[in-house]
Amino acid sequence: MRRTLLTEGHEDFRTAFRSFLLKHAVPHTERWESQGFVDRAFWKEAGAAGFLSFEVPPEYGGLGIDDFRYNVVIAEELVANEVAGDGFALHNDIVTPYLLHWCSPRQQRRWLPGCVAGDTVTAIAMTEPGAGSDLAGISTTARIEGDEVVLDGAKTFITNGTTAGLVLVLARSGEADGRGMTLVAVEEGTAGFEQSRPLHKIGRRAQDTGEMSFTECRVPAANIVGEPGRALELVKRNLPRERLSIAVTAVAGARHAFELALAHCKERQTFGQVLGSHQTVLHRLAEMHTAIEVTASHVDRCVEALNAGELTAEEAAAAKLWATETQWSVTDRALQLFGGYGYMEEYPIARIWRDARVQRIYGGTSEIMAEIVGRGLLR
Ligand SMILES: Cc1cc2nc3c(=O)[nH]c(=O)nc-3n(C[C@H](O)[C@H](O)[C@H](O)COP(=O)(O)OP(=O)(O)OC[C@H]3O[C@@H](n4cnc5c(N)ncnc54)[C@H](O)[C@@H]3O)c2cc1C
Repeated sequence: MRRTLLTEGHEDFRTAFRSFLLKHAVPHTERWESQGFVDRAFWKEAGAAGFLSFEVPPEYGGLGIDDFRYNVVIAEELVANEVAGDGFALHNDIVTPYLLHWCSPRQQRRWLPGCVAGDTVTAIAMTEPGAGSDLAGISTTARIEGDEVVLDGAKTFITNGTTAGLVLVLARSGEADGRGMTLVAVEEGTAGFEQSRPLHKIGRRAQDTGEMSFTECRVPAANIVGEPGRALELVKRNLPRERLSIAVTAVAGARHAFELALAHCKERQTFGQVLGSHQTVLHRLAEMHTAIEVTASHVDRCVEALNAGELTAEEAAAAKLWATETQWSVTDRALQLFGGYGYMEEYPIARIWRDARVQRIYGGTSEIMAEIVGRGLLR
């Protein structure tokens, strides 16, 4: 079926982004995988080319493009070109909306131009060593003292965590009922703020993921994003977009793994015939293809709903749950079809398989997605 989500304008954007990746990312991906992060120069090149925070209005240097279909194109091309190290989804899809919708004009003037230009890499730090799924259990504190906020605590598994110049930190601020949470923007180099080296992960190795600590870390109270004590409301409002972003990458990832496996099945000979012509293999390919196409249509529909401001928390959680589980089952089957070659690092499917695993964990695990969908059913 013809895909109806994208227009010619999106496809032109795809062509431009693909040639950007072929020139500025693809030649470096192996090195980025070994060093555990992408070069800072790559962020600046992406900024100069207009691929970062493009939703930001022109007065702050952006393009003012508020259409998630462009974010979809970026996700699809990153996957198709096997560039797993970027933190673009985190920067464009997840952090930019906080800055755009909940920051004051003064904060926007200070931070947005750097985000657009690629001078400032962003991160959002919610997870802690002691609390991930259950954000209500975080223990990092934000004490408001006059015109300063004092942060104490530690965060872990933070995407862009080692290179970020601006981190939105979720902290317990204890208003009224003692459950208040506040989002505080912390800039690189602030006294008492430490960023670790990249953590050693089983996949997405070029994407830097780090720990950070805050020890009597003082930032101006003017760095509070939104109202003190109301951060969880902002997080909840942004989560559908974050989860849909992961679902979009999941569909693209499943499709790419499938295409590699299909090409292999058309070439590889076993028992005197091409692998794909064995009936069980053929049926397996048909099942994988069907799962991808059905999932892709649904995720496209969710993108339309997001653009229309209608995507609910439950719908986004269901899309993430389904798309990432589908990605995992398709990718694992794809690797299986490569036999022993699939287990060899020089075959792209090996890395694609490793990189896929985390999709069912970050942005809320599959179990938590099921919990959100399930609770919605009982309401
Ligand atoms: C590569 C990577 C990048 C990440 N990037 C970021 C980031 O940028 N910012 C950020 O803040 N965090 C980030 N995270 C953290 C991620 O969101 C958390 O790891 C995730 O939400 C799970 O939290 P946890 O690791 O503490 O696991 P836990 O919450 O301890 O869960 C452990 C297991 O128990 C299950 N479980 C927990 N509660 C229930 C329940 N009620 N019912 C059934 N099962 C349950 C979970 O599904 C999981 O399988 C990242 C993680 C990774 C691995």
